[in-house]
Amino acid sequence: MVQQSPSLSLLPLQFDVLVVGGGAAGLYSALCLPPTLQIGLITKDTLSVSASDWAQGGIAAAIAPDDTPELHITDTLKAGAGLCDRAAVEVLVRKAGKCIQNLTNMGVAFDRKGDQLAMTLEAAHSRKRVLHAADTTGRAVVSTLAAKVLEQPNIHVFNQALALDLWMHEGECCGVQLVHQQQLIWVQAKAVVLATGGGGQIYSQTTNPAASTGDGVAMAWRAGATLRDLEFMQFHPTALTKKGAPRFLISEAVRGEGAHLVDSSGRRFAFDYHPDGELAPRDIVSRAIFNHLQKNPHESVVYLDLRVIEPERVQHRFPNIIRKCQKWAGINVFETPIPVSPAAHYWMGGIVTDLNSQTTIPRLYAVGENASTGVHGANRLASNSLLECLVFGAQLENLAPQPLPWLQQATTENMSADYKLPDIDADIEQLTQYRAAIRQLVWQSAGISREATQMTDALARLSQWQKEFKALPLTQFLSNLQQQSTYHLPPPLTVETLRQWTELRNLLAVSRLVLKSALFRTESRGGHYRSDYPQQNNATWKAHTLVDGERWNLQAPQEQ
Ligand SMILES: Cc1cc2nc3c(=O)[nH]c(=O)nc-3n(C[C@H](O)[C@H](O)[C@H](O)COP(=O)(O)OP(=O)(O)OC[C@H]3O[C@@H](n4cnc5c(N)ncnc54)[C@H](O)[C@@H]3O)c2cc1C
Repeated sequence: MVQQSPSLSLLPLQFDVLVVGGGAAGLYSALCLPPTLQIGLITKDTLSVSASDWAQGGIAAAIAPDDTPELHITDTLKAGAGLCDRAAVEVLVRKAGKCIQNLTNMGVAFDRKGDQLAMTLEAAHSRKRVLHAADTTGRAVVSTLAAKVLEQPNIHVFNQALALDLWMHEGECCGVQLVHQQQLIWVQAKAVVLATGGGGQIYSQTTNPAASTGDGVAMAWRAGATLRDLEFMQFHPTALTKKGAPRFLISEAVRGEGAHLVDSSGRRFAFDYHPDGELAPRDIVSRAIFNHLQKNPHESVVYLDLRVIEPERVQHRFPNIIRKCQKWAGINVFETPIPVSPAAHYWMGGIVTDLNSQTTIPRLYAVGENASTGVHGANRLASNSLLECLVFGAQLENLAPQPLPWLQQATTENMSADYKLPDIDADIEQLTQYRAAIRQLVWQSAGISREATQMTDALARLSQWQKEFKALPLTQFLSNLQQQSTYHLPPPLTVETLRQWTELRNLLAVSRLVLKSALFRTESRGGHYRSDYPQQNNATWKAHTLVDGERWNLQAPQEQ
């Protein structure tokens, strides 16, 4: 039996602002919010686990003497294939210098050349403008931010606290339903900031961590927020591909430093597809690899050859890649090319936000990869995403959330009610099976190359799985619990099981939204390629895809 009970969790039931996510976006947002506010920051893992922590290449900022914000804006707009919002790009680029200064003041140890910050080139940048800390830039940033956050008396961090849904009241967001320390609780906040990262886990092949299950986007969608451009997914061309090894990213900076992309005969085939060869935009290089492998079906990988770069340079710039290739694939990069193939990497679409990171729902904000600020358009320029986390986190610096018009403790009513927990052993096994099946299905139908029949079939399959998921005894049980009440999870229902259930619910929702958006857009652009509509069609489709509930509409992008 499960019983409603007063909260035993150490998590307070009220904050001024609740930040959901402890990656670069969540941490920097928390630090930039006014220090007079009481801020809760939750993460479903710990502060050291996030995509931000895994970022290798660096952060773009037009601060070198030979660079200008205008050049960075031009490169960003070009990569975005006609769908960036210029005003958002202006904010991103022009506020970059201040954020970088702030990070260096906090102690982030970016690599230096003499007394200047060192910069490298990445694909589609017209200048060397990517700051880095060896090949673990994300870790350098996140560990510094996390240390700062933990020093702040007004910021309260809760690890292993999983947000399930937004708490909505009369169209406004007034908190979050979450599970923490074996309890389901409702936490009120005058404002909620979603910073839950991307959704790469809808694909079987992804560079994203296991936690990137699109939770923020799914929660916002269920709450009625407008979403945008969900079909635009960036596939990274070069993830390590070796049986038994994780899809570890081999950073673009490796190609920026001169590594060759070759096939098994040692030929640099990328020039067959684009004059910039391996430094063409990511979607083009990913498709080049995809097509090259399709033409040579006996091969399943291509190779990145670092032997053409000075060994000292490799040692200095890529110590982590050297280590990880050795550890996971037994490859010495000084002697052997690295086997690679494309994997889902970055989600351009997300929850619509304005220049102040506000969503279409009052009191709800979104920052980082789960937001759609308008800076990436149909394709992200490399290293603009960490920058987006910082700049749009900083846009919250003047947030002054209004008191909630009503305050009602979300606990203890109806304490005597009991709910019988059904037998969930079979459900637990099924959760894992559904997850694997969804990821395979979405990779095959909404991956690098998409086509109507496959997507329609995939949607039919998803809708069947959705029905089965709804019918699971565990789903029935959870949906019967009373809103805004605290529950202690009875064994064998653990936090881990509830996490599997929640993530599956979100993966199902997000996979469907991505597939429907990809089916809706009958053209190819940026990170969305349709083999049945291979051309870009500006007459009809130079427009954002807006998703409101079950409605899909077009919205003209802002002037460029
Ligand atoms: C391997 C790799 C390399 C990359 N390299 C670069 C790079 O060099 N430069 C660059 O600009 N970008 C890079 N990117 C992209 C960039 O890292 C991400 O876009 C960015 O870090 C996203 O930050 P975020 O804070 O939005 O999300 P994340 O860093 O993913 O953080 C998400 C946080 O939300 C929490 N969370 C999620 N769901 C819930 C929930 N339901 N309840 C509670 N907490 C939740 C997670 O626990 C986590 O703390 C890379 C990405 C990957 C995967």
